[in-house]
Amino acid sequence: MARYTASALVLGVHNWGDADKIVTLFTRERGLIRAAAFGARRPKSPLAAGLQMFNEIEAELTEGQRLDTVRTASLLHHPKKLSEDLAAMSYGSFVAELVREFLPEKQPEPAIYTLLGKVFAAFETRNARIVALMAAYQLMEHTGLQLSYERCAHCGKLLEGDAFFSEQAGGALCAEDRAADAVPYPAQLREFLARIFAYDWRPNASSTVTRDNLLAAEQMLIGYLLWLLGHPLKSLVFIHQLG
Ligand SMILES: [Zn+2]
Repeated sequence: MARYTASALVLGVHNWGDADKIVTLFTRERGLIRAAAFGARRPKSPLAAGLQMFNEIEAELTEGQRLDTVRTASLLHHPKKLSEDLAAMSYGSFVAELVREFLPEKQPEPAIYTLLGKVFAAFETRNARIVALMAAYQLMEHTGLQLSYERCAHCGKLLEGDAFFSEQAGGALCAEDRAADAVPYPAQLREFLARIFAYDWRPNASSTVTRDNLLAAEQMLIGYLLWLLGHPLKSLVFIHQLG
């Protein structure tokens, strides 16, 4: 079977059998990959240290029919806060679940690999809830499921002032094209979302957010994800329990 090396972010780890793990990796070279890591739960396994959630690793894998197999995993970066701080861990898990849920397997997306690296770095220093919100909006733009936020989804007109919003109709709607199920979409929220999409993750970039905008953008995102999936994401249920 073909062997390959990849830089990867660990986005999912599940126990399997007696001593093995199934991991979900986001690789720079091949996008989302699911792989078996045999013996990875044995304390002395050379795979044990690398294959922890949110780590960045350099891995050697072999291709398989259903699952690839991790042969070696050397640690490149271990994000401290994402593995120790409950809020960072929970919101980080939400970002990882979004990628696992909405990005296709085995499709190289180097831009998303770069974005995820910046997002994980931001969790180390910034408010986890805001980092997760910005990451989620930016990631969903790459899924092919994105909605229209700046223009009317029906007539394409660039929106000015307050407007309306409906996931069903593809996103934002002008007053003339307002759908029956549309909810109000205030100009203030639209301007805030435009700032989220333009956010470049530089260490000195400002991520100040008003509470009203945060809550409105979160509510819109949660409604959208629920509409796409028909059920809430597991990580969001957990975050909700945190309060
Ligand atoms: Zn319109």
